[in-house]
Amino acid sequence: MRFTFNRGIWEDSNSLPEWQDNEDFSDYLMRIGYSTVKSIFGHEHGSQIEIYESSDGRSFYASVCPSGSAVYEVLLPDFPSLMMFIREYATAFSSESSNFSQQEILNLLEKFFQLYHGHPARSICPKCDPAGWEENVRTREERRKKRKATS
Ligand SMILES: [Zn+2]
Repeated sequence: MRFTFNRGIWEDSNSLPEWQDNEDFSDYLMRIGYSTVKSIFGHEHGSQIEIYESSDGRSFYASVCPSGSAVYEVLLPDFPSLMMFIREYATAFSSESSNFSQQEILNLLEKFFQLYHGHPARSICPKCDPAGWEENVRTREERRKKRKATS
């Protein structure tokens, strides 16, 4: 699926030669005159946008993978188109990926907490949250008193 994004206007095709079935992606880039050096927005194993620059630096090529499988090729014919494309779309992919890495770090920390402290990170005990624990004890005590008073 090939598109052109020309200064904010989407077109349904592009002027680049087709990528052959058995052709290596880096061979393809070199054949169409693009450098294999890329900037990546997004996550390696999730949604991501890769951007390549033509050898003369005049145009750009974005390979967009929104879900981790299907890839959309977008020709960005000049620098203003590149800038608009990054502003409109690439930043969204970046922030999505930073959410993803934060979630991964959080999961890892929770595993460590459980391992070294002995209970899940989402519950508390007098050791890891003394103030919160005291608060719990106090509310429980108050509830008990109220129940006694009403019975
Ligand atoms: Zn604890």
